[in-house]
Amino acid sequence: RSSALGLAEWLRRRTLRAPHRPALTCDDVTWTYGALWDHVERLSAVLQAHGVQRGDRVGYLDFDGPMFLASQFAAARIGAIFVPLNFRLAAPELAFIINDAGLRLLLAGREHQGVIDGIRAGLCCCHYLSLADAAPGWPAVPALMAQCKDIPPQASVDADDVALLMYTSGTTGHPKGAMLTHQNIWSQNLNVLLTKDLVSSDITLGFVPLFHVGGMLTVTLPTLLAGGHVVLQRGFDAGAVLQAIPRYRITLAFAVPAMLLFMSQHADFDRTDLGSLRLLSVGGAPMPEPLLRLYEQRGIPLHQGYGMTETSATITFLHSDRAADKLGSCGTPGLLTEICLKDLSGKIISQANIKGEVCVSGSNVMKAYWNNPEASAAVFDTDDWFHTGDVGYLDDEGFLYLCDRIKDVLITGGENVYPAEVENVLYAHPAIAQCAVVGVPDDKWGERVVAVVVLKPAAALTLEELRNFAAPRLARYKLPRALYLVDALPRNAAGKLQKFRIREQLKEVAALP
Ligand code: ATP
Ligand code: MG
Repeated sequence: RSSALGLAEWLRRRTLRAPHRPALTCDDVTWTYGALWDHVERLSAVLQAHGVQRGDRVGYLDFDGPMFLASQFAAARIGAIFVPLNFRLAAPELAFIINDAGLRLLLAGREHQGVIDGIRAGLCCCHYLSLADAAPGWPAVPALMAQCKDIPPQASVDADDVALLMYTSGTTGHPKGAMLTHQNIWSQNLNVLLTKDLVSSDITLGFVPLFHVGGMLTVTLPTLLAGGHVVLQRGFDAGAVLQAIPRYRITLAFAVPAMLLFMSQHADFDRTDLGSLRLLSVGGAPMPEPLLRLYEQRGIPLHQGYGMTETSATITFLHSDRAADKLGSCGTPGLLTEICLKDLSGKIISQANIKGEVCVSGSNVMKAYWNNPEASAAVFDTDDWFHTGDVGYLDDEGFLYLCDRIKDVLITGGENVYPAEVENVLYAHPAIAQCAVVGVPDDKWGERVVAVVVLKPAAALTLEELRNFAAPRLARYKLPRALYLVDALPRNAAGKLQKFRIREQLKEVAALP
């Protein structure tokens, strides 16, 4: 007998209780829970017929759609591990993850088969299946599912079995595979249900990529656990999101701040009726205050959150009714999660308002990194706290405020500088389109603050102007001591700044005669 916290088992029970309720809608086609479960069973048969066994890794490479979720549950149903791949990655990045995960089978959409064919010789996979029609070397899943006769028995899983191998965004180096167990996903779902009061009448709109914990685990899976209805879009398009909200009477959605910005800049924003939204969840990056106010004025409750791949998504939640008096905070931990701050020596900081590394404990924290004992040992301490690599502080009510990533903090003349703080000031300069602040080695000061800037079209900027602009708002030691103007900043596929690349490039510049 399987416990209800197994990923496939709770969906099976949901289906038994209400098979005719709508589960997923995409491209105007709706699957009921019964239809979704039928896909899950047939697909699990296809996977097993291709040799997928308990513990094997099944990769998925396609734009978002119902088959993503069917595949995820199908893999879980036979005890296999689902590995969603970021479809924006380049061929060598995909090869790294496919081989690191040791995929046995890869499911891929039509548009993504070409890139895989180009690197197939160097991949470890045994089987490749097309999510669309058959192509050379790509037998078609829909045809195989239609032919399938015998549905394999459902594997009984332990809470501690790995259900998902989710790769981090690769902002600070190579992506790492976070092993998320059935228990981890269950706990994340419960944290969300209990914080957002999710119910079966909720209709959720999904437009953040499902291969990212933000897309999969902040609202999509919790909605299905609650017996609600998920409307999926294949990708993010601000206009399409605005159309879908009144059309489907959407009650709930998750977005990253940049998406909320694009929506607010869209011509239809002011005239769209967003009244059905009971809450909009936002996280993954800091939420700029003006944007917060804009949505507030429209009467849309914004729930902010802080999370990461390794914690199955959410660590802290900030309810909309605290947004105003806790400006800049990302909230308090979910009910099944605890946080603390630790200083450099690993001691817990007990006073309020003192900066330290954010550490997390709870049943939503991953088992370990896949295939990477050194990286795992580096993030779990002897008291089993998971070290996030983020610096923050807690106020006297226990609300968390994030400062920056430890790897990006620089020390100049003995003083800590949080680049995010400097960047926030620089972004207000009218000539600056994008900027990154990093530390470079300095003989005298240890490190030196350097600004790397992309200018707005036809704009100009000197170091002196930049320093004069920032001086009223920043201590002297935080002011940039060098300025580099560039055409673009290095970003990963999720659009996050890769500062380690900027530091490497600056080292090369410094080495020039
Ligand atoms: P990698 O670990 O591969 O370098 P990554 O850390 O960017 O990449 P993710 O797990 O997608 O991969 O992102 C988690 C990180 O995003 C957090 O550690 C934190 O630095 C940042 N983050 C998430 N939510 C917020 C938020 N609300 N405010 C500020 N930063 C956030
Ligand atoms: Mg990370």
